[in-house]
Amino acid sequence: MKLKEAQALEKKHFFANYARVPLLVERGRGNYLYDENGRKYLDLVTGLAVNSIGHAHPKVVKAVREQCGRLAHVSNFYYTEPMIRLAGRLTRLSGMEKVFFANSGAEANEAAIKLARKHSREKYGAGRHEIICFERSFHGRTIATLSATGTRTYRKGFSPLAAGFRHAAFNDLASVEKNLTKKTCAIMVEPVQGEGGVYAAESEFMKGLDALRLERGVLLVFDEVQCGLGRTGRWFAFEHYGVAPDVLTLAKSLGGGLPLGAMLARGGAGGAFTPGAHASTFGANPVACAAANAFLDVLKEERLVERARRTGAGVMKKLETLGARTPGIAEVRGLGLMIAVELKKRSAKDAAAFFLENGVLVNAIRENIIRILPPFTVEEGELDRFLSLLEDFLKGAKGRGGGGK
Ligand code: PLP
Repeated sequence: MKLKEAQALEKKHFFANYARVPLLVERGRGNYLYDENGRKYLDLVTGLAVNSIGHAHPKVVKAVREQCGRLAHVSNFYYTEPMIRLAGRLTRLSGMEKVFFANSGAEANEAAIKLARKHSREKYGAGRHEIICFERSFHGRTIATLSATGTRTYRKGFSPLAAGFRHAAFNDLASVEKNLTKKTCAIMVEPVQGEGGVYAAESEFMKGLDALRLERGVLLVFDEVQCGLGRTGRWFAFEHYGVAPDVLTLAKSLGGGLPLGAMLARGGAGGAFTPGAHASTFGANPVACAAANAFLDVLKEERLVERARRTGAGVMKKLETLGARTPGIAEVRGLGLMIAVELKKRSAKDAAAFFLENGVLVNAIRENIIRILPPFTVEEGELDRFLSLLEDFLKGAKGRGGGGK
């Protein structure tokens, strides 16, 4: 199939809710994607922070093949080894105690919202159900997670949204305190806001949230769907702050490319889900869990979290230097391999199109913000290519017409 045909059929059969990039991806290998003509693209989008160890890693492929041939699905009526192993590894890695497996980030957050409400109701009685979230946050597209999301454009047109969510200003403790009432059961925050434009929480802010958690008996929920599992150069973004959550959500890269989410909790919150309280047919799917186990093996064996930290620090330094000498860059933000470049006058869409023409995939997340979420296996030279293309774009260069060969 060729791109034009796919585009025509998309128009005919699909809802128009995605503005897809004009690229028909046929296969992926390592840090590269290939289109139907065999053109090669350096993938700095990684399926939105999913393919953190690159595409088609042999260990993940082998685990998926084997598990698929043995058992693809049984539901949570039964035990399977991949889910048991994965739960043990995730709790050990994160310091959490209990886990619920879902299929996506939104579902992991949905589970966290339900857990926070149930925990509060059981501990303090009815009426304490509000969750403080943040402006510019993103927690998912279901009605509850959309209600938690602090970006108005995502919420527009879907009212009435779920009640019980307040939005405080990010990195502003006074704003959190203003919103904290006797109805508050939890504070839900992304330690690094991803979709909002890559804004990392400040250390004082996180420490302040931790203090409020203790003083006011509210749960601290960290949404690490995007920033977790090595993306920021630590296994979990909260490790940068020395503040541990009561509830942690993960998804995206967890399944090694397969759909898998997890909601983890420790302390009293862990006991709030009793039989029948929450469920998911596909949650803890053995193939997804086998892929996740293989993904964690690769991260550990190839020391990719440390590598993400080193590579991320290196590219940030170079970006800052470029920013200082290039008037077209307004700001550079990032932690590990989660990086945003805010442009001054040029459109991020034009930048992404320029990169695409030159065989590099980047993500335009706001009118003037491009984001890169490179695989942890990215080479310094590959990021240098990104930097030099960015400079070319800002100098007004045109694309070369097509990806690399
Ligand atoms: N939470 C965060 C921080 C995210 O970045 C996203 C997706 O971008 C989600 C939740 C929703 O995840 P999903 O698209 O898997 O439902």
